[in-house]
Amino acid sequence: MIPFSAPENVKFCSRCATPMETRQIADKPRRVCPSCGFIHFTDPKVGVGVFVVNEGKILLVRRTMHPEIGKWSIPAGFLDAGENPAETAVREALEETNLEVAIEELIGVYHNPPGQGGASIFIMYKARLLGGTIQAGDDADAAAFFAPDDLPEIAFASTRAAIDRLKAKLATD
Ligand SMILES: [Zn+2]
Repeated sequence: MIPFSAPENVKFCSRCATPMETRQIADKPRRVCPSCGFIHFTDPKVGVGVFVVNEGKILLVRRTMHPEIGKWSIPAGFLDAGENPAETAVREALEETNLEVAIEELIGVYHNPPGQGGASIFIMYKARLLGGTIQAGDDADAAAFFAPDDLPEIAFASTRAAIDRLKAKLATD
């Protein structure tokens, strides 16, 4: 198995274009340039999702993308380089539902094991609705608020688990 710390598709040094080699660097194998010594560190993909709760209902979007196409999820997307993850959450809500939201709190930070695609680190926020007219966009083809006890089919086990935690929290708020 190719270690995640030394992806073989990193073929050439990004500084001097020499073919890269795999060498043990401290605790892990890494792709290393034998000419200039540059070490390639693979950055984790970071995803951000947002629970928008309004009048006790949860905002969900229907996915038009694989995996889990046609199932429902919370608005979510990848953190852009240089972007504050709270801004990512607000941006994804706007792109996928046309709604303006304000972050209330961090729900949690989750680690997905490598090899499953998607984000390896997932950050979830809770937000409240500020305004806007709901309309699906970007990689969602439907957007709606659902009562916690009347949810559609949810994509991703991690999202189902997070919704269960949120429902428990809403019940005590
Ligand atoms: Zn080099």
